[in-house]
Amino acid sequence: MSLAIMAPLSEADLPEVYASVESEVRSYCRGWPAVMESAQGSWVTDTSGRRYLDFFAGAGALNYGHNNPALKRPLLEYLASDGIVHSLDVATSAKTEFLQAFERQILRPRGLDYKVQFPGPTGANSVEAALKLARKVTGRESIISFTNAFHGMTLGALSVTGNSMKRAGAGIPLVHATPMPYDNYFDGVTEDFHWFERVLDDSGSGLNRPAAVIVETVQGEGGLNVARIEWLQALEKLCHKRDILLIVDDVQMGCGRTGPFFSFEEAGIVPDIVTLSKSISGYGLPMALTLFRRDLDVWAPGEHNGTFRGHNPAFITATQAIKTYWQSSDFTDATVGKGEFMRARLEEIAAEHDGVSARGRGMAQGLKFEATELASQVCRAAFDRGALMETSGPSDEVVKLLPPLTASRDELETGLDILAEAVTATVSA
Ligand code: PMP
Repeated sequence: MSLAIMAPLSEADLPEVYASVESEVRSYCRGWPAVMESAQGSWVTDTSGRRYLDFFAGAGALNYGHNNPALKRPLLEYLASDGIVHSLDVATSAKTEFLQAFERQILRPRGLDYKVQFPGPTGANSVEAALKLARKVTGRESIISFTNAFHGMTLGALSVTGNSMKRAGAGIPLVHATPMPYDNYFDGVTEDFHWFERVLDDSGSGLNRPAAVIVETVQGEGGLNVARIEWLQALEKLCHKRDILLIVDDVQMGCGRTGPFFSFEEAGIVPDIVTLSKSISGYGLPMALTLFRRDLDVWAPGEHNGTFRGHNPAFITATQAIKTYWQSSDFTDATVGKGEFMRARLEEIAAEHDGVSARGRGMAQGLKFEATELASQVCRAAFDRGALMETSGPSDEVVKLLPPLTASRDELETGLDILAEAVTATVSA
């Protein structure tokens, strides 16, 4: 099944106030020039009544879909009862329940003895806290990041981010970070890991001893680059051996996107520090966590703070998401199954066209186009057919699919049919 092609919309169809008042920095409303009004599950509806199948899910912030009824009910009850909304890091009953649920149902069953920091509501906040803590604990300055990494737009996070356009926005030198080749950076021709080990061990390499390595298990923004399990295991070993802290940035791939709650579980590694945000609140409400080994908790009270660390409506929906989806391995199993289903269909689409390949892990899947400009055109063609999909990668060469993990098989099939049509229409245009 697929949706009928719609009369193409353009930016000129948006209310004039966007062009006249909102900064030129706006971006998603350019590719999807519709005014969105309501949303339920995997579907978004605009002001003209057009429906869009959401294969973007708030860049991974809506893993449980839009306005999920199981989360909405306790949220509405909480608001109706005048439950406290804003609380900095004052103790609240909503926060107590979240910490207890997170400890009992997420950390303990996985044998993770982490302390939990509320660093501020965004992924970048969590990354900044992680980098600061690693530097404070080790007394070292430098951080190792990876080619095509993405960690956020604040200065510390940008310094470990690869994208040159985003880095240039800093306007000052981005220092104390050194990029290393991510897994398969040399297409298997050169062993990238040997390169990394060699410069770490060579006193003539010019590399300062780093405080930490920060890594994504799958680079979402960087083009759906998937690190092999063996590579992640070797990275953990290398960090342990040299007393370097391992930070896994699970802002986009965590909360079940690749199957397990934490994306690193499959590799059996235990990072020293973990960043989480996006889908941790479950409802698209801003919330982030920085997790770290108990013995790394060297913060002084208030040394890292922020006004919006206690957004209680987010604690309510985060607790409910844990209770609804993470009591057993059923949700993980379903995600892995749906991911395999998506991958099989993507392989079929790729096989029908030259220069197109499938990539991804779990329900973070996509298509890479050798003719890089095609990916944006495919996303536009998908939008005209009623689906929201975004590009990623240094040249925007990958169509990245992040449907809600709660999407039904029918919805996944519909979205993949739309994608297949969009690719055919674009490639043959
Ligand atoms: N880390 C990763 C891996 C991300 O994907 C993102 C956002 N795309 C961030 C950090 C930054 O999160 P935020 O936009 O909430 O600051």
